[in-house]
Order: sequence, then C-alpha cells, then structure tokens
Amino acid sequence: MELNVLGQTAQASSGGGCSSGGCGSSGDQFAHLPEAIRDKVKNHPCYSEEAHHYYARMHVAVAPACNIQCHYCNRKYDCANESRPGVVSELLTPDQAVKKVMAVAATIPQMTVLGIAGPGDPLANPERTLETFRQLSDKAPDIKLCVSTNGLALPEQVEALSRHNIDHVTITINCVDPDVGAKIYPWIFWNNRRIKGRKAAKILIDQQQKGLEMLVAKGILVKVNSVMIPGVNDEHLKEVSRIVKAKGAFLHNVMPLIAEAEHGTFFGVMGQRGPTHGELQALQDACAGDMNMMRHCRQCRADAVGLLGEDRGAEFTLDKIDGMEIDYAAAMRKRADVHAAIEANREAQRLQADEIQVPLTALQGVRETRPVLMAVATSGGGVVNQHFGHVREFLVYEASLHDVRFIGHRKVDMYCSGGDSCGDAETSLQRTIRTLEGCEAVLCSRIGYEPWGLLEEAGIQPNGEHALEPIEQAVAAVYREMAEAGRLDAPAPCVSRASA
Ligand code: SF4
Repeated sequence: MELNVLGQTAQASSGGGCSSGGCGSSGDQFAHLPEAIRDKVKNHPCYSEEAHHYYARMHVAVAPACNIQCHYCNRKYDCANESRPGVVSELLTPDQAVKKVMAVAATIPQMTVLGIAGPGDPLANPERTLETFRQLSDKAPDIKLCVSTNGLALPEQVEALSRHNIDHVTITINCVDPDVGAKIYPWIFWNNRRIKGRKAAKILIDQQQKGLEMLVAKGILVKVNSVMIPGVNDEHLKEVSRIVKAKGAFLHNVMPLIAEAEHGTFFGVMGQRGPTHGELQALQDACAGDMNMMRHCRQCRADAVGLLGEDRGAEFTLDKIDGMEIDYAAAMRKRADVHAAIEANREAQRLQADEIQVPLTALQGVRETRPVLMAVATSGGGVVNQHFGHVREFLVYEASLHDVRFIGHRKVDMYCSGGDSCGDAETSLQRTIRTLEGCEAVLCSRIGYEPWGLLEEAGIQPNGEHALEPIEQAVAAVYREMAEAGRLDAPAPCVSRASA
C-alpha cells in the first residue's frame, strides 16, 4: 500500500493539506518573523498551529523527581486512556530514552520534536535530562529538543540547556503575584529546605521571571504555559500574559485546569472546577492582543508519542523497541524526504490560500451575519477526513464574515468502535453531543443515520458534503451556505455560545 507524507493511504488524504497558513489565519502564520525564527518553528507541532496537522512530537519520561507541589498535580495515577501532564506508564533511563526516540523517529518520520516534560520537573533531574539531550544531539541531530519546566531550577540550567542545543523551552507560569501563587503551590523544595506559602510562591515567581529573561537573552524560544483555574488565577492571567510578552516570550498557552476527584489532586478532591470552553476561549482572546496564543495544546502525557491528539506510545514500549534494529543514517534520509514532501505540499496549499476567503468575501457587504462555531472531524493533514463515529477529538473552528479561525479541541469517547462496544453507542453518542454544545454544525467525511437525527434534534447540523477538503475552506463554504439560507441573521438557536 502506498503511503503519503503522513503515512496515510493516498485515498484518505487526497484533497491536500490545510490550505491556510495555520488554522485561522490566511497565508503563512509566521510570515512576519525573521527567517531564523521561522526555521525554528515551521515544523514544530506545538509552536505552529499549521504544523500540528503534519508533524508529530514525543515525550520521554526520564525525570521522576519534582521540586515543587502544585495543587493540580498528582504523578502517581496512570490509566492507558488518560492524557494529562505528569502521567506515564514507563520511567526510562537516558539510554533507554535515546533508543526509544531513535526507534520512533525511524518509524514515524513526521516526528520532529522530542520533549522532556516529566513526569516530575526535568530540571530537578538535571543529570538524567541533560544526558538524554547530550546523546540525542549527537546521534539524532535532525530532531528538535525541547524541555518543559516549572522554572524553579531554570536560571542555573540556562547555560547547560544552551550548550545542549535546546532551542525551545516551556515554563509553566501560573501567576506573577505571590498571593495568587500561595493558592496554587503549597510548597517548594529550595536549597535543601521545604518552604511553604507566600514565601515559596515568591521564590518560584522570581526564578521563573529570571529564567525567562536569561533564555530570551540567549535567543532560545520560550513558550509560557498557564493553567486557568477559575476563581484563583483566571483574571490574573491577563497580567501574566502582558508581562511575559514584554519580556520576550514567543507564545502563551493558556490551558484549562484538569481536576477530577479520582486523580487524587488537591483541586480535584476539593471540587475545584475547570473552566468552560467559553470561559477558556474568552480568556485566550483577552490575552491575545498581538501575542501569539497557542490554542491547540493537548496537555499531553509525559510519555506521549505521535501527532497531537493521538498517542502511539503503546507501539514503543521497552519490550518492543528492544527487538528493533535501527539504521539511523537510513532513517534520517527517509525523514528528510518525508519532510521535503510535507513542505512542498504545504507550499502548494499556501498558494491556494486566497481561495479560502472566497466564500466569505462573497458575503461581505451583502448582509450582516454572526459568527458560528463548527466542529470538524479530522485525523490529520488539515482536511475533513474522519467518520463521525470514529472521532476521539473534534477540532473547533469559528467562522465569521472575516475569517475562519481555530478555537480549540473537544475530546469525546469514540461513538462506534464496532463489535461488542456497540451496546454502549447511545450513551457515548449523547455524551458526544453534549460535548459539542455551542457548535452549530459538524463536518465529517461520513455519518450514520442515527447520530444525524440526534445532532439535528440538538440544533447541530451534520455535514458530510466536504469530505477530503481543506478544513478552513470547508468551514467557510458551510458558513456561506448557512448565511445564504438565512440561518445567521438571528441569534444562535438553542445552543448557548456562552458555554461553548
Ligand atoms: S503538552 Fe501541549 S505543548 Fe506539550 S507536546 Fe503536548 S501539545 Fe505540545
């Protein structure tokens, strides 16, 4: 079977890739940036929304220890289906991690980025983290190396990170005010002592800000992650965004709190709620200004493998990679060919980008219409290419008279996995429809009779007419159809955008 640049069959991917410059902006998302920075981010699935349709990432879990406690974190719990930071199935030594990375890179040539993100704090385990990076920069120079940290130990490691060719660093910064921080961090471990409360938060904040400034001075790209905790730091995060942007952070990623009692976290047990989709979007929009916002983060496990939103970690367990023979020189040649094919495809799609605007500009000046949220079923490649019943996460786009922009994703249980699970179908389907609240249309390659009817009853229009079309183009076309049918002249029917 012939595979294309995404490892998909030709049939599954025909129609090309994402034809806009990145999930909501026409043209090249980073066209305004200097060439050197564009080169750093163009195939990084976390730093570029467009790239996340094409390129994969992986994390290796080499860093067990942590030097702070967060009220939203518990690293002890794992379930195969759980995706949240700090969760892992197998802790690796640096040697094992390097072998795993090379095995994944040889098998999934779209994998461009290796990150160390836990399960503890990578910089609280500097020997293990740096040894992994040292070996990889030597043996697999075509892989970008990234690290995520809470920032407490960052300033003293900036020099070492720079020496090991780390050019992307993520710092989790949830506050710049120690009074807010004291509600999130019960303690830190600092200079061989446990420090609590406001004093602990102040030390952490000072170290994060110092580390940020040092990284920027070194020319290392910094992404700031912030966990949105309603009633604790939600209003405050606008100030965080303003400050980190002023200090030179490249990207701000505001993520929703994940808090369930069964995770055993303080916030989970205490019933602290996470934000609604609408609250998260409103805060991301408020933070945006002219700062780059990341809206496609999947809050991955510390051992995630694959395209964002998928996890192929089970294919690369230690017992499986032990038996793999890896010719990395050959793998690098194949990877270079695949990357060149992806870039050629992206360039061709970019040249067609103006077509995306046609369905919208045709409406401008003709009528006033409101924005609409639409859910899209895709398995990658920037096209509408998934059966409604096979979706594990929908991408959500907002279409308006002016543009189509990526808003976020919604995870769902797969409605139909065939065989024995079909008895659960109705329950899963009802849950999926609830998850799509706020969306007025759902675009997929195919959909069954039963979900079609239930979606319509819920005020969500199913649409299978744009299979294999580039996502933004398909969303724009459906928006135009809705406008021309007069469905966008009145407020949204029975779906509450406030909760979307
Ligand atoms: S957690 Fe977010 S930033 Fe990190 S690899 Fe996953 S998608 Fe990228």
